[in-house]
Amino acid sequence: MNKPCFPVTFLGAGPGDPELITVKGRRLLDGADVIVYAGSLVNPALLEGVRAKIYDSAGMDLDGIMAVMVEAVRAGKKVVRLHTGDPALYGAIREQMHRLDRENIGYEVVPGVSSALAAAAAVKAELTVPELTQTVIFTRRAGRTPVPERESLSNLATIQASMCIFLSVSMMEQVVGELLAGGYPPATPVAVVEKATWPQERIVRGTLADIGGRVQASAIRKTAMILVGPALGENDKTASKLYDAGFSHEYRAGV
Ligand code: SAH
Repeated sequence: MNKPCFPVTFLGAGPGDPELITVKGRRLLDGADVIVYAGSLVNPALLEGVRAKIYDSAGMDLDGIMAVMVEAVRAGKKVVRLHTGDPALYGAIREQMHRLDRENIGYEVVPGVSSALAAAAAVKAELTVPELTQTVIFTRRAGRTPVPERESLSNLATIQASMCIFLSVSMMEQVVGELLAGGYPPATPVAVVEKATWPQERIVRGTLADIGGRVQASAIRKTAMILVGPALGENDKTASKLYDAGFSHEYRAGV
């Protein structure tokens, strides 16, 4: 597209598989002079062959990250700030964008495949099954980062939607306790996907009644997505109306 070229791009790297970056993202990575990436989660395979100078933000604080980015832009360089999954979710991009605003440096955000959606793909789930739920909640349990009380897992569980729970697998026992306390029945299906789309991907399935023990036995402690809700059931045969022969829509008349 004929959009202006921004000195800084916040770029979604996708969940891990190097083929799951957008075509635009790949082009921007290949053309970058400086790449600052979240080394703890971004697959380094994405950076093979790039000509840019690479910084791993894992050991850097916000000041350090901004100093690298601002200095590079001032030197006329093109900077890519590479975030895992999609930058809009738990990416801490807002404070970086505020700093760039203050420096009068232009930027764009290029989306990526969130690990929530990669995890759903791994378990071949549709998160929005008619009659069961039409809502997906992206959330996390409070850890060192607080979560507003009204968004506690037990409050969110009252909605009985599909939930994608980030950053919480190390607190699995509490997660399960709060989801049950909020009203999901113990038979509610759960899938935990570790390192979705990486070669080491692992999937643990169960229900709220037994997933705690299963996750503990699997020794999954980090980089995992917890998917919960009635739509995660493998045996549910509820069909979408979209392809139902009797359902009319814009492109097809029902019979
Ligand atoms: N912006 C990212 C999320 C960053 S927060 C995204 O859209 O995916 C980091 C959390 O994301 C991890 O604690 C884990 O819950 C989840 N996560 C990131 N990569 C993952 C992967 N490949 N498989 C499963 N979960 C992952």
